[in-house]
Amino acid sequence: MWQRGAVTASAPIEVDLALLGGGGAASLLLAALDRHGVRDLRIAVVDPVRRRGQDRTWAFWGHPDSDLDPLLSASWQQVEVTTPARRRVLDLAPLRYAMLRSGPLYDRAAEAERRLGAIRIVAPAASVVDDATRVVVRTGDGGIVRADWVLDSRPRPPARPGRTTWLQHFRGWWLESDRPAFDPARAVLMDFRTPQPARGVSFGYVLPVSDRHALVEYTEFSPALLTDAGYDTALAGYRDLLGLDPAGLRVREVENGVIPMTDAPFPARPSPRVARLGTAGGATRPSTGFTFSAMYRQADQVARALAAGRPPVPEPAYPRRHRWMDAVALRALDRGGVGGPDFFDRLFDRNPAERVLRFLDGVTTPVEEVAIMNSTRLLPMIAATAGDAAHRVRDRLRPARPAPAIPAAVVGGPPIVGRGSAAR
Ligand SMILES: Cc1cc2nc3c(=O)[nH]c(=O)nc-3n(C[C@H](O)[C@H](O)[C@H](O)COP(=O)(O)OP(=O)(O)OC[C@H]3O[C@@H](n4cnc5c(N)ncnc54)[C@H](O)[C@@H]3O)c2cc1C
Repeated sequence: MWQRGAVTASAPIEVDLALLGGGGAASLLLAALDRHGVRDLRIAVVDPVRRRGQDRTWAFWGHPDSDLDPLLSASWQQVEVTTPARRRVLDLAPLRYAMLRSGPLYDRAAEAERRLGAIRIVAPAASVVDDATRVVVRTGDGGIVRADWVLDSRPRPPARPGRTTWLQHFRGWWLESDRPAFDPARAVLMDFRTPQPARGVSFGYVLPVSDRHALVEYTEFSPALLTDAGYDTALAGYRDLLGLDPAGLRVREVENGVIPMTDAPFPARPSPRVARLGTAGGATRPSTGFTFSAMYRQADQVARALAAGRPPVPEPAYPRRHRWMDAVALRALDRGGVGGPDFFDRLFDRNPAERVLRFLDGVTTPVEEVAIMNSTRLLPMIAATAGDAAHRVRDRLRPARPAPAIPAAVVGGPPIVGRGSAAR
């Protein structure tokens, strides 16, 4: 279904830029194009779903005073990282940790879309053919879009299986408390006191927006999802660990998610005039699942390029050496050489918080990265490095195999906690 401009479903439409997928990456890009004053560009956005409202909450760190500041639900200068051994409060200056709910970003993108005069096509992109001068996109409603450039953020599995394939999977409850229960001055970034899975890492976290209202999540980095009841049990356990009284709590919303954590490749440039963005383009950091900062950075790069009349192709989301370090770290965690809480304990103990966070965003210098690597346990890391090298050689000799699809999140009914619950 075409939604702007005098075109019918069967008339091919000519644009300078087609965005396939209108989720997080595309929303940040539309906002960046608007911010950089890009005008007179013919844009089409193709997505079977017009994203609106609260379907996810993004937490990320960065410098204050970005254009996103007015959209934030909360931000914190201090965060806690807690292990069974100790609780540390980290001052993030000059950075800050921030929470952006999807609704305000989707609204901002819709406003940008209007100002840019973009055409919205509410249908899936079915096929994409790039002849190196133009790209022809056929949509599920029988339409055709011809574009100079395509930026594709449709979810897709990696090009081949990873050497380590984990998932970051989680459930969060938006909790409302009868009485003050949270410290709005401080977020809990990672709390490893949760029972650790046999293979993988688990932690809880708390993102308070006021003293009575917070997002409390249980997260696992591990190979397989839990059941619906498994997430509720783990989250109830974490709520109890925090000392929250269920009798005075209501679950206002439930948030579920699955994010790939793998060293499998997500090719960012499948053909000359197509670039991939978002998770599909490798913006998800394999060792943490954090994606938002890389998407924001790449949106800015693309908008600057278009404003300067250059091709809309962003730099790789992370430097190659970071992807290698992540592959080694994931392997060490997966093969049991390194324990998750111990790994993060040492990282935050031996480095300024700001360096660790910039490292996780992929923007540290090689000298800083040596310091980061020196804070991990040497022997398991050497073993993981050797194992990774041997696995790469084996992969080259083996015939190519398809990668498994990234599973959908487990979505259940309303949880039974506290006095009342209102799950989405
Ligand atoms: C619940 C949740 C919470 C998250 N929280 C964080 C966080 O706190 N911090 C962080 O850094 N990262 C987080 N992430 C990871 C990441 O930032 C998000 O997944 C982000 O939305 C990824 O953006 P994207 O554009 O790659 O994918 P999406 O936002 O999923 O957008 C993909 C779009 O493609 C569309 N689409 C699908 N098929 C087609 C088709 N055939 N044709 C056209 N369009 C199609 C979909 O409808 C969708 O709109 C979270 C992820 C989830 C799921």
